[in-house]
Parts: sequence; C-alpha cells; structure tokens
Amino acid sequence: MTHILHRQIHASLPIASGGKGIELFDASGRGYIDASGGAAVSSLGHGHPDILAAMHRQADKLAYAHTSFFTSDVAEALADRLVVDAPAGISHAYFVSGGSEAVEAALKMARQYFVEIGEPQRRHIIARRQSYHGNTLGALATGGNEWRRAQFRPLLIETHHIDPCFAYRFQEAGESDEDYAARAAQALEDRILELGPETVMAFVAETVVGATAGAVPPVADYFRRIRDICDRYGVLLILDEVMCGMGRTGTLHACEQDGVAPDLMTIAKGLGGGYQPIGAVLLSRKIFDAFANGSGLFQHGHTYICHPMACAAALAVQEVIARDRLLENVKAMGAHLARRLGERFGNHPNIGDIRGRGLFMGVELVEDRSTRQPFDPKRKLHARIKKAAMANGLLVYPMGGTIDGANGDHVLLAPPFICDIAAIDAIVERLDDAI
Ligand code: PMP
Repeated sequence: MTHILHRQIHASLPIASGGKGIELFDASGRGYIDASGGAAVSSLGHGHPDILAAMHRQADKLAYAHTSFFTSDVAEALADRLVVDAPAGISHAYFVSGGSEAVEAALKMARQYFVEIGEPQRRHIIARRQSYHGNTLGALATGGNEWRRAQFRPLLIETHHIDPCFAYRFQEAGESDEDYAARAAQALEDRILELGPETVMAFVAETVVGATAGAVPPVADYFRRIRDICDRYGVLLILDEVMCGMGRTGTLHACEQDGVAPDLMTIAKGLGGGYQPIGAVLLSRKIFDAFANGSGLFQHGHTYICHPMACAAALAVQEVIARDRLLENVKAMGAHLARRLGERFGNHPNIGDIRGRGLFMGVELVEDRSTRQPFDPKRKLHARIKKAAMANGLLVYPMGGTIDGANGDHVLLAPPFICDIAAIDAIVERLDDAI
C-alpha cells in the first residue's frame, strides 16, 4: 500500500534503497545497472564520494537563503563556470529547480525580451512535433506530443509545431542529408512566413531529440540553417539541452558539435547529476542587455531559485567531470557502445535504427526491418522490454507511441559517464536478452 501518487498508478514498484557507482539496489539487495541514468540524469552514477562531501560541506555552512536578500558563493561560482564554458554570446545563468521550470523561464525571457525592445506583437512559439519540453503548462504546450497534451489542451498556450525531426522515417528514400537538412529547416521558414515574421517570438528545439524520439541527432548543417533563418526574421533560438546537455553527448553542450550558439539554452538533469534538483537557463548578452537597459528586472522567480545546496552539488559535479576528464570517457565509451550495439543489433530483424551521440543512444524497434514498419502500439513493446530488462538487472528508458504521435518503440540508453568497457558490454548483453 502506497500513499504516494506516482506518474503511473502502480500496484508496486521496487523500493530503491541504495546506489553505488553505476548500480542501484532495491530493498532486497538486488542490483540493477543504471543504463539510463534514470532519465539521463545520473551522469556521475550514485553515491559519488566527492559530490557527497561537497553537499555535506554546504549543508554544514548554509542550506538556504532567499535570493531577494542574498546571493551565495556557490551560485556565483557555478554561474561563472557555466558562462565561461558556454557557447558564444552566453553571458548569464538563471538557476531554477528542474527542466520544465527552465523551459518556462526561457519562454518568459523570450517574451519579456521583445516587450523590452518594443516588439510586443511577437508572441508565437514554434517547436517541433517530435519533442518533449516538460510537463508544466507552458512546457507541455511547447512539446509536440499530442498524447500528452490532448486532455490539457484548453489550458495550453497556443504553439505551432513543425515536422520533421531526424529519425530515418522522416528522411525520404534517396534524399541526401544535405537535402534533408534543407527540407527540415525550410519547414521553419515556411511557418514563420505563414504566421507573419513580425509576430514570431521563438523557435524551440532539443539539439538531440531525447525522450520522444530516442536520441536522434540532427543531420549535419540543420542547425546552421536554423540559426540563419532565426536571424533573418529576428526570431530567438531556444535550444533545450535539458536531456542531451551537460556532457551527455561528449561535449559539454550538444550544440557545440553543430557549430551553433543559441540565444537561450535550457539545461537540467546532468547539471546536478541527480544529487540535487537543479536546472538553468543560459542567456545571451542580447537578452540580458534588454532587461538591464529596460525594466531592470526579469519578471519571474520561484522560492528555490539559486538554491545553495543545489548549486553546491552541481558545482561539484562539474568539477569532477573536468578533473577526471570524463568527457573524454563519454566519447570513448560512447564509441564503444555504438560499436557493440551495431555488432549485436545491426542485423537484428526487429531493430530499425541505432543512433545517438556519446553516451546518449537510441535503439528503435520495428516489426519488420525491411519495411521499417513499427510494431502495433497495442503490443506495448517498450513497456515489455523495460520490464524484461529490469528482471534482468538492467535499467533502460524505453518509450513508445510518440515518434510520430502514434507509434514506434525505442529504447534510450544514457549510462553514467563513469562507465567502463565491462559495464558497456554488460549493458548490451542484458539488453539483448531483454529484447
Ligand atoms: N526538456 C527536455 C528535453 C526533457 O527531456 C525534459 C525531461 N525529460 C524536460 C525538458 C523537463 O525536465 P523536468 O522533468 O526536469 O521538468
């Protein structure tokens, strides 16, 4: 009997009672390899002594001070670090408690920016249909998943969704990556023109599409084209790196690999590595200056912004990643994971695609490899694989019914950055058994 309302109304979930390194343990002492880092959260694994020590030090010193009275040394240090390491143009960080809150704040920053610079008619948000941006009302409205949105729609702000994203099923037979990038970017320009460029506020996109589509990276050149289109029409580019960011793809920010710098970027999950709930908006000088030279105030804020405990944990996570050169390990282990998945599943009759970047990989399941026909969603294959994997001591993040709003099953892998070869081999082995 539980008195907790979970996302799923469930009869019973195992009780997580411990975690060490890449493993979680249930109350019976049974171990599970955490091959999804929860939902791409636990970048340093569990029970990392250096993070725990930093949290203890901060708890001894100060747990909380409201931002209307104080800033804190840890929040300042974290912001300094994030800004130094950020893409060109980013000048400030705004700390919140998670990914959805970061997306809400970014949308409001975009809106306030246009009010401050005297373009209040800009209000339209364009996003992609294959996307997830969070579950609060503004973030939910921004994501394109109709299944999640349907019952809440009367409460959602108006947003506009374009296709396609980058899973194989959207690339036409014989279409080159270049032509595909051009076609996908053209969808944004068409929508901007249709809405009237002077009314469009922002384009929001995950750099690598995460939960909805299963670690789908953009084709080369797509984001360069998107940046050009946004600049041409004065539209802000908001990159949502809540899931794919903070080292997950082998560079601190996924967009570094696409040679693009956003006006606003959201990060969370790996920022605190699961040790504390924390998210942030990284904002460009242009946005900051509009606030500073305008009302002098960002009209938003929650009780727990810049929480010192959260900032201390996040700072320690970032320091360990740098000290232990873990981004290099993400690249090396990511390449190993891609290789092993290819060897194991490359010719599997029910695997349609293997894709991703770094330690952020997706395996797509299909009824028929030659036609890439998805499984009937009623079979709930993704849920069955999750269950089989758990029974096999493996945690993966499967999803189904979302890639084109109707069907398609995939398994997302996002193991901790501290993985070694033996861990990757065990993950692929156990996943194969589960599939
Ligand atoms: N954006 C993206 C890309 C995400 O993957 C998520 C979470 N899966 C969110 C936003 C929302 O983050 P949170 O669950 O921390 O609110």
